[in-house]
Amino acid sequence: MLKERIEVSQGDITTYEVDAIVNAANRTLLGGGGVDGAIHRAAGPKLLEECRTLNGCDTGDAKITGGYNLPAKYVIHTVGPVWYGGKNNEDALLASCYQRSLEVAVEHKVRTIAFPSISTGVYRFPFERACRIAVKTVKDFLEKNEMPEKVIFVCFSRSDYLTYLKVVDELINA
Ligand code: ADP
Repeated sequence: MLKERIEVSQGDITTYEVDAIVNAANRTLLGGGGVDGAIHRAAGPKLLEECRTLNGCDTGDAKITGGYNLPAKYVIHTVGPVWYGGKNNEDALLASCYQRSLEVAVEHKVRTIAFPSISTGVYRFPFERACRIAVKTVKDFLEKNEMPEKVIFVCFSRSDYLTYLKVVDELINA
């Protein structure tokens, strides 16, 4: 059942014991603030060392590294679009982040994966709009693929968590 493969959770993504966590990175892949900073701090300096070998990442694409000191085996780094008002292909680029992250996950036989809410921090993407794109893209992917077995949307704040619950209810549990 699709709804058993999608979970909404509130917490710090760096603590999740899953095969892969997704990082909302920037195009350099050399670290930043927000969830990116938290992941690098928790993973330790070897993560940055591996990221330096990747030559950055395009917006909407994803690249994988080890998880080092994290409980997760892998980090999948994806680069969300900066919100410039919605006429710069932001929606499609954000959907591509989820799609490419899931494709990379499948290539590495990832069974459980946790996503933060990409682009909704410093990149200013409107939260509910981003949430709908995240849930819809993951739903479409899981309907066509047996892996990953489970996707967890990790929300930092209570209000973000409640928005995800509402949207998952609308798009999946309905
Ligand atoms: P972006 O640059 O893609 O907007 P941010 O890291 O600024 O990325 O924000 C993305 C989302 O990640 C925001 O919703 C923010 O609340 C959330 N976030 C920040 N730190 C963490 C964390 N440790 N675990 C989970 N989510 C986090």
